Amino acid sequence: MKESIILLDACQEIIDLKLVAGTWGNVSLRLENGNILITPSGIPYDAIKEEDLVLCDRYGNVVEGNLLPSSELKMHVSIYASRKDVNAIVHTHSLYASIASAIFDEVPLLVEDVAMVIGGRIKVTSYKYPGTQELADEVVKGLGDRMAAIIANHGQVAVCPTMEDALLAAQMCEKAAQMYVIASQYPKVNALPDEDIRSLYDKYVKSYKKLRDLK
Ligand code: 13P
Ligand code: ZN
Repeated sequence: MKESIILLDACQEIIDLKLVAGTWGNVSLRLENGNILITPSGIPYDAIKEEDLVLCDRYGNVVEGNLLPSSELKMHVSIYASRKDVNAIVHTHSLYASIASAIFDEVPLLVEDVAMVIGGRIKVTSYKYPGTQELADEVVKGLGDRMAAIIANHGQVAVCPTMEDALLAAQMCEKAAQMYVIASQYPKVNALPDEDIRSLYDKYVKSYKKLRDLK
């Protein structure tokens, strides 16, 4: 499918999944030549048209576009630069990830589907002002080799090889945050051990996910 259609479909999907409200958040794709196709800044998702998407080079210079690129372009550029496996990024201010972003330093994973998709407990970055290189650097650090991070007092970012997977990672990050916000109110919570999270993730990538991709 054409990349611009994938990105426009992703905009509709994050509305349908109730991961966004208003114009906040942003999504991007890395193209085969390394360029980045990203949503424009401050435009309602259901109003974004193909010609509104902004094409940038790998350093964040605008190559084509009539509107301003997302104000978090530096974060997208930095993630792609540091993660060769990532070709799609979904940044949202989803509710429970945002609550967790103001309470915890990390979100332990409680169930196996989340572990399979995210690949490790979810780190919460230290607070940095939106749109800055400092925020971008913190997000890269928070992600490590995992598929999601929570941005302090802000929201979440999900990354994956494809947009389909990044959208799933965004849902799983929100699920993990929601579960832990609720579970942490109880005296005892049994989180998944780190080594099991990693082996569940490996199993998912090497075999379980392939069943879906066969379809
Ligand atoms: P945009 O500039 O892409 O609208 O981003 C808003 C936002 O989420 C800032 O963190
Ligand atoms: Zn944001």
